[in-house]
Amino acid sequence: MRIIFATHNQNKLMEIRQILSDTAEEIVSKGELGISFEPAETGRSFGENAELKAVGIREYMRLHGLLREGDIILADDSGLCVDWLRGAPGIYSARYLGEATGYDVKNRHIIEKLRHAEGEERAAHFTCNICAAFADGRVFHTEGIFPGRIAEEPRGENGFGYDPILYLPELGKTSAELSPEEKNQLSHRGKALREMRRVLQSVMENDEKLRARIGQPEKRKGRRILVVSDSHRSHDGLLRLIREQQPIDVLIHLGDLEEDEGIFRRAAGEHCACYFVEGNNDFFSSLPREIELNLGRKRAFLTHGHSYRVGLDVTRLAEEARARNCQIAMFGHTHKPFLKEVDGVLCLNPGSVSFPRQANRTPSYMLIEETADGELRYHPGYLS
Ligand code: IMP
Repeated sequence: MRIIFATHNQNKLMEIRQILSDTAEEIVSKGELGISFEPAETGRSFGENAELKAVGIREYMRLHGLLREGDIILADDSGLCVDWLRGAPGIYSARYLGEATGYDVKNRHIIEKLRHAEGEERAAHFTCNICAAFADGRVFHTEGIFPGRIAEEPRGENGFGYDPILYLPELGKTSAELSPEEKNQLSHRGKALREMRRVLQSVMENDEKLRARIGQPEKRKGRRILVVSDSHRSHDGLLRLIREQQPIDVLIHLGDLEEDEGIFRRAAGEHCACYFVEGNNDFFSSLPREIELNLGRKRAFLTHGHSYRVGLDVTRLAEEARARNCQIAMFGHTHKPFLKEVDGVLCLNPGSVSFPRQANRTPSYMLIEETADGELRYHPGYLS
């Protein structure tokens, strides 16, 4: 199951990855799928806006052939609601006093408006509504609130937006004085996300039971994952490999295809999940540059690798994977097979499936067997 999050905001994406990583096999942003479409936020509530975004992106993906069975599109809408201002700025929080106006000005303005408000009259809260739009048409919402009071003075350097003016009396701090971890625990978004995690898990459990009741064949346990790279427009070997290695459940291409990836997707078949990243020679592609996904009990980071200078060594790549909480880093670019643990990260390069550069000059690949209990077994292979 894949979750697509309708945001460009990297902080939100990081929070979502932390909270939902064990719920979905893959979490990507719409940007990583090459989608720049922004549905208009014309709703009258946070819920309406979140749904407009989630359903808008789902229908865009359907229209452009990007939607897969089991996909879930998540979108959120959030803002600050001040009691004294009858709920303003609310859904207009980002646009309050103009989108380009700095938050120092917006925050001072709100404090000034509340100059006659005291105690409880200064009550305010952040709200976050999250909408999940399923590929099959179902829609679910969760909502979280983060209550406090409007501070007398802006305080704190962390967070963003209105954080410096939401004062939390029990803690004696503003939201901008909390560490990111503390804020995730208490925040409107953290609460709505954790609730969404529970909703998604129970929906999926129920779907599973329903499928069992209507007697659908059980899915084969474990998966076969074929990892290749650097085909550089010479696709005959890879097409043969895909045929010979069937059944393949997951096909990973680590970049430098230099042609339409559709040829490999079609060869792998509808049942096969394909993850392709852009290489330094994929000039006009709309492939994502990097992907994270769950394989067995591990999390893998997929990149072509040139931006981490893998031609020299894999130190930077391993660092990046560790920072992302990934235990596997897959890369290409060097055209040489590589499989080695570096600082706790298994760095894996399948070599080039078309233009090998290692001593034996034989096109290579990696087959990973994922067992039913989540173990991964690695089988490096060569094309005969
Ligand atoms: P959106 O949901 O990302 O469109 O957020 C709307 C606006 O609400 C943001 O631009 C901020 O002004 C405000 N906002 C939402 N969440 C927070 C938060 O956690 N801290 C501070 N401001 C927030």
